Amino acid sequence: MSINTHEVYVTCPVCGAVTTEYDYHENTSSERVELLCFLNIGKPSNHLWAGNPADESCFTCPGCKHETPYRIIFTPDYCKVQDLDWYKRLLRSQIQFADRNGKVCFSDWDPDWGEEPALSRLIAMYPEDHELKFIQSLYNTLHICGRRALTKLEVTYGKVSRDMVLLPEALEKVYLGDSVVGIAPHTFENCASLHDIFIPDAVTEIGDDAFAGSGLSKVHVSSGLLYLGKRAFAHTWISRFFFPQTIQAIGEECFMDCACLNHLWIPAGVEVGRNAFANCPSLKQIQISESIPKDVVDTWGLSPDCVIERYQ
Ligand SMILES: [Zn+2]
Repeated sequence: MSINTHEVYVTCPVCGAVTTEYDYHENTSSERVELLCFLNIGKPSNHLWAGNPADESCFTCPGCKHETPYRIIFTPDYCKVQDLDWYKRLLRSQIQFADRNGKVCFSDWDPDWGEEPALSRLIAMYPEDHELKFIQSLYNTLHICGRRALTKLEVTYGKVSRDMVLLPEALEKVYLGDSVVGIAPHTFENCASLHDIFIPDAVTEIGDDAFAGSGLSKVHVSSGLLYLGKRAFAHTWISRFFFPQTIQAIGEECFMDCACLNHLWIPAGVEVGRNAFANCPSLKQIQISESIPKDVVDTWGLSPDCVIERYQ
């Protein structure tokens, strides 16, 4: 178990004295984090102010002893945190540990549901912060639709894009319908829990960085694919990739840093970008049309011990 404290600065509305208070969060296991408020007051935050306007719990100024209700303290004029990004990261990380019912594992802890006001409190202090409001919408989605709304993505038609991915780190399954025609740049970038995908035949284009840095190890590729963007599958765990006959272009660094990629067949007539297969240590064999000149193949970034087989 580890306890981390975090500074919160409170300004007394009467005398202007600034007091440093401490929030803390407790890691009792990887699945439970609690964020409590004002450690030195010795009460969990739900005893202080739960976002309820009728709650008149007060903050006592250590200087002038004036008592100010927390609903006034937790506003932009009187309260600031040391590092807002730290809170945002913590709040987002909670969502990944939510169980099937949309509750955070074991403790029922939730910053904006029930009695824990951490998120409401931050929104009251930073009313202009769009990311906090977005995080709140994620929590609401979690409660109304369950965790599935964040871990699964289903798209039936058109182009898939990044804005459809609510929480990239939580996404586990993607279902693309037969009328999906493309995957926009960056759509699934860094979706570390996404391990496989079936790309339907109507998809002709996969944009730059579309799956870069994701957890992808298995891809079923559409038979109508024309273009693969730059770094589209870079830094993933895929071992095989079957290029369809339709493919026209493979972007620069498209498969760079794919540690498991071990065999490829490249159709004739495809344009391959620079370093498309750079730093793929397992790629020991590649089949290429004899029509592609050696100096072109030399720009692909293949490792020196990769055997190049030519076919007619
Ligand atoms: Zn005071």
